[in-house]
Amino acid sequence: MNDLAYNLDDFTWQVSNDRYHIGDVNTESGELKRAIILSLEGEGLPFNDYVPQKNPAMFFDFANTDPTEARVLAFANQYGSLKPKYFNLAKIDADNEPKYYEEISEWFNEMREMAKVLDFWDSINKKDNEKLSQQIHLESNGYCYTDGFFKEQYLVRINKKPKDLTNPALEAVATMIDAAFVRHPIKRSLGHNYVEKCLYRSPMIKDLISLLWFQVEEMVVQNRAFRTCAVCKKYFEIKPPVTRKTKIYCSGACNAAAYRKRKAK
Ligand SMILES: [Zn+2]
Repeated sequence: MNDLAYNLDDFTWQVSNDRYHIGDVNTESGELKRAIILSLEGEGLPFNDYVPQKNPAMFFDFANTDPTEARVLAFANQYGSLKPKYFNLAKIDADNEPKYYEEISEWFNEMREMAKVLDFWDSINKKDNEKLSQQIHLESNGYCYTDGFFKEQYLVRINKKPKDLTNPALEAVATMIDAAFVRHPIKRSLGHNYVEKCLYRSPMIKDLISLLWFQVEEMVVQNRAFRTCAVCKKYFEIKPPVTRKTKIYCSGACNAAAYRKRKAK
């Protein structure tokens, strides 16, 4: 297995456009599982490199809609596999054929878990205490919520019953993200900036799923704001000094498209 990790900005991933399909795979345990499968048949080099961090809102694409096989396929065809680079973990199926695949259930679990974190974060930002009271379940000794997808129960250690549920919700978000990095560890190393003559902390990314969780962590720690483009509906980051109200298009191209549409009316 390729265990190499790269600096956030140097991290490239490979996508193999339109060579993925969904099917059944005989796994090592002998069970038939739904999987996303990479086909290496056909002409030419099957992979294109890209730099995932150029799109710091990619995690919205991953998490934001209900997990279905069609969604997994669309995401893989656009951004590649989640874990093994190049799908280089060739597994031998029952017919003695090497197969390059990831189980769909793993994709679904990560999508659901990330959606849950984003849902919490949304309620926190909107100060939607009513929704938070549905997301956080009260136990006799404090607050707790259940993560139904990884079958773990996290206790949020707050013994009083606060009216404002922001703090227990923040703790729930922290716990879920911490758990994601137990599944998909990211090492930190120190980078050296020769021009500025300083050191900086740098995450070492080795696969796409850990990058997606890193993006989520960045959003909650740096309090980054995102919104959907009024034209193409893609998520993009709003950086100061622009505000949520003034910036409604993701790019010059979408701005121009909206202008042309207004003019045509
Ligand atoms: Zn746009």
